[in-house]
Amino acid sequence: MTETNLAGDRCHVCGDRRFLHDDVLWPDLIEAWQLAPAEVAYVNVQQGTRCERCGANVRAQALARALVQAVGASGPLESCLGPGGSLDRRLLEINEAGTLNPWLSRLPQHVLARYPDCDITQLPYPDGAFDLVVHSDTLEHVNDPRTGLRECRRVLGPGGACVFTVPVIVGRMTRDRRGLPPSYHGHADCRAPDFLVHSEFGADVWTLVFDAGFERCELVPFRYPSGLAIIAWR
Ligand SMILES: [Zn+2]
Repeated sequence: MTETNLAGDRCHVCGDRRFLHDDVLWPDLIEAWQLAPAEVAYVNVQQGTRCERCGANVRAQALARALVQAVGASGPLESCLGPGGSLDRRLLEINEAGTLNPWLSRLPQHVLARYPDCDITQLPYPDGAFDLVVHSDTLEHVNDPRTGLRECRRVLGPGGACVFTVPVIVGRMTRDRRGLPPSYHGHADCRAPDFLVHSEFGADVWTLVFDAGFERCELVPFRYPSGLAIIAWR
């Protein structure tokens, strides 16, 4: 474990300034994903560089920043969570959004939907039931990510936003892994079906948002290209 200096960056979740880093990728995944050394480095930062105080990694940092922006606020996520705060909205979290889950769970109008009880491609909620939908590194494990995003859009009210991350390799286009040897995220020995990778997203990731019928797409970086969150506006 090494301490890292994010050059004055503050944690977008808790406001702390101290960050730690551990590499997280393993050789089989690097080979299956066909990552170049520079890509290995930035994906390791995306998943393995984290706030010393709250544990939010760079992916969660980008997601928190995007969530705060989506409600027109500023500052760390923590400052938006109080009663009547900027994030006091009808918020659906699909699968735990990593270390953000305990924070989001404090919101009075928070709903958590978890696979396999709840499938992102068949959400058990009426049209327009939420103001915000949040998910993190879920769509790459979904057989049909466009259907998943379309469902997110359906359960959002007018002006609502779906805020999410997927791992993106910015120097290539999206690749469907159907027909390729199975590749799993999580950890080196993981073979759980819900960790199987269906899509490896690339620079065209934004097209998913419009294919799913959203009106507008916003990209929110944190330590780009390691951290990148997407706001899809209904
Ligand atoms: Zn933090």
